[in-house]
Amino acid sequence: MYQRLYLQIPGPTNIPEPILNAMHRPAIDHRGKEFTALLGRCVEGLKEIFRTSGDILLFPGSGTGGLEAALANTLSPGDRVLALDAGVFSRRFGEIAGNFGAEVITVRAEAGDAVSPEAIEAVLAADKNFDIRAVLLTHNETATGVTMDLSGVRAAMDRLGHPALMLVDAVSSLAITPLDMDEIRADVVISASQKGLMLHSGLMIAAVGKRAWEASASAKMPRWFWDFSRVKQSMSAGQMPYTPPVALFFGLEASIGMLREEGLQNVLDRHAQNAEAVRAGLEALGLELLVREKAVRSNAVTAVRLPEGLRFSDLHAAAGAKGLVIGGGLQDLKDSIFRIGHLGMLRQPEVFALLGLLEAALADSGCNAKIGAAMSAAASIYRQSGRS
Ligand code: PLP
Repeated sequence: MYQRLYLQIPGPTNIPEPILNAMHRPAIDHRGKEFTALLGRCVEGLKEIFRTSGDILLFPGSGTGGLEAALANTLSPGDRVLALDAGVFSRRFGEIAGNFGAEVITVRAEAGDAVSPEAIEAVLAADKNFDIRAVLLTHNETATGVTMDLSGVRAAMDRLGHPALMLVDAVSSLAITPLDMDEIRADVVISASQKGLMLHSGLMIAAVGKRAWEASASAKMPRWFWDFSRVKQSMSAGQMPYTPPVALFFGLEASIGMLREEGLQNVLDRHAQNAEAVRAGLEALGLELLVREKAVRSNAVTAVRLPEGLRFSDLHAAAGAKGLVIGGGLQDLKDSIFRIGHLGMLRQPEVFALLGLLEAALADSGCNAKIGAAMSAAASIYRQSGRS
């Protein structure tokens, strides 16, 4: 039986119809003029979204490949890097660096806390000889729903005159949370197709600045598939070094069109507001959010502590039976939280649907939540903003 799915995991997101329709096309020659023109339009659109005049490189692949690419193109084995551990994805960035032979200094935060710019500044301040070559920053830690203050990190690096490269994972923040690559002078920013760009997974995007290109000239970490120079050379001739996922490019052009039509700032504002409405709804139910500090709560995903006695598998099944798909905790948070994704093409109807379905699923799983309270709390957030 057909049932509309409310896919409220923290990515992939639901895919809007204009994007689905754009992808429903026969294959074209990826070495022909039509693809070259499509590639050029996608690159121009992505520059607006990353807010950069640097290079945009596209790869078949997922976000994790992008993390590997950012490291392999700018560093050499033995280089010292500063990494964060505030959850699975920031930890992964540091792990990849270590596997490629970097010496990794890790700054940790408890699950649900952000690594503060001050904590990063303290490590960089002690690095008097500027041995730290790169700072690895996960803009939005999707595992816990924490956003990190990239501008604060840039300000700290400027205060110290520290020349480390800034490598940013924006997989779950691009087109969701304000990010201006050129303003914060990030050197590499990585993203992927399946989150704010509202596409299927399969396309990795690397935005590469001038200092990253300089670093790549002497970087010795091994690379072939992820080699930025090879891709840049091929893309400057309107092609890619390997067979591109062409359907995703058709979808990407439609996605860029939708983001342009709404206006990037409006898209970011909508995400902020939906996130606030979801959080207000969840708290009104008496649920406890994992992230306590309001200023760092994510616009993409909210992690909720599982109420005493409620198992994620039961809640997941009860929600699934109603057509609502929610995310679970990852690794060490597996049995203690669930996650609601509120990224991508969500407007008020979808937010009310997800909260209503979640209330019903909580009731079905025997949870003693204040059923009914979420909708009115969310409605009052929209009313206050004049968006009702
Ligand atoms: N970084 C962040 C912040 C993510 O949220 C994810 C995936 O959710 C990744 C990296 C890994 O991306 P992928 O699963 O596309 O490899």
